[in-house]
Amino acid sequence: MKNNVLEKQEILKLDNYFSKERKKCFGLQINQSTSDCSMFARLLKHTLNNLGDPFDGFGGQVHTLGYERELIFLMADYLRISHEEVWGYTTSGSTISNIQAVHLANLKLNNKGVLVTSNQAHASIEKSVTLLRVKEMVEIEADLYGKIDLDKFSDYLAKNRDKSFIFCFTSGTVSKGAYDDVNKLIKIIKDHKIPRERYHIHIDAALGGLITPFIDAEEIRADFSIPEVDSIAVSFHKRLGVPFPSSVFLVRKNNLKTIQYSFVNDYNSLDTTIAGSRDGLSPFIVLTKLKSIGYENMVLRTKKILSKATFLNNQLIAKGIPTIFNEHSPCVYFKAPHPSVIKEYHLPKYRHANGDVYTHAFTMEHISKNNIVDFVEQCSLK
Ligand SMILES: *Cc1c(COP(=O)(O)O)cnc(C)c1O
Repeated sequence: MKNNVLEKQEILKLDNYFSKERKKCFGLQINQSTSDCSMFARLLKHTLNNLGDPFDGFGGQVHTLGYERELIFLMADYLRISHEEVWGYTTSGSTISNIQAVHLANLKLNNKGVLVTSNQAHASIEKSVTLLRVKEMVEIEADLYGKIDLDKFSDYLAKNRDKSFIFCFTSGTVSKGAYDDVNKLIKIIKDHKIPRERYHIHIDAALGGLITPFIDAEEIRADFSIPEVDSIAVSFHKRLGVPFPSSVFLVRKNNLKTIQYSFVNDYNSLDTTIAGSRDGLSPFIVLTKLKSIGYENMVLRTKKILSKATFLNNQLIAKGIPTIFNEHSPCVYFKAPHPSVIKEYHLPKYRHANGDVYTHAFTMEHISKNNIVDFVEQCSLK
């Protein structure tokens, strides 16, 4: 009984602290508006385990595999691939989804694939190269805005035509929120006549996967409507507002034909996933939230975060602070303010070769225009 009181005090203390702090979480591309998820608390009394493959597996004793499949199909709709052609599963974050993609691509290319990405790619790409002993990794330099430099990409391919490739392109880079020009990159791959069976294209759309389906900008939609796109990773916690990291890995099913990579677990159930036990509560919450928000509201919400980013960019410029800003991105990259502001607003630091320090802010759902005005004021004072 006494313990119970202590637990309650500790929970209250944490809740108060996090509630205060989250309003100043400007540095990470994570929507902190998750209060509506408390309605799912009732399910916390169950241990839900989506063990194994959501399509061919049996799960743990109690699971939500049916909801997980529905979530995969909903994301397939947003990323424009038919339900017959898609396979995938939910993971605990896009790092795992990216590792899964590289794992699959590596097997498909008989461990001969050179992983080609940009120097702005997420650290999980390099992590997967190390973990999976990928033969070689090449980082093509990005341009000022954070996109893969097309000329440098073309130069590299010209000199390496006879290799096999795992291409990892990004939809919404970590530091500048840039969208790699996937269509133009694919055109270059084709111009160099790299045969289709010698490459796999993975899109790390941890951030962009829940932005680009909801805006009117076909040029940055890097999804399965492009026939050469083989797999995509999308995070849910970045846009949706869920109290746990969560992601989905999707792949065009024909990629699985030539490879043998599933294991049979204790329940004689097919396991194609990296994890053993997988959380069954999170795909249910994600699906329920995505469905209740609906397409139209996602469009509205996306408009809002993007217009707040334009607002932040304009406010910074008005104060004479240099910025780099990508259209259709909720990210503004700018000259770093005083270290006290960096700390207060949970901002990262990017040190340039000439010694300049830059940072970035993401205008996610929990950040209001008033928060932005206060923030810019702080940035310009110190
Ligand atoms: C956040 C992010 C990841 C990694 O996602 P986690 O959920 O933190 O593992 C990968 N790629 C990009 C572009 C990201 O923004």
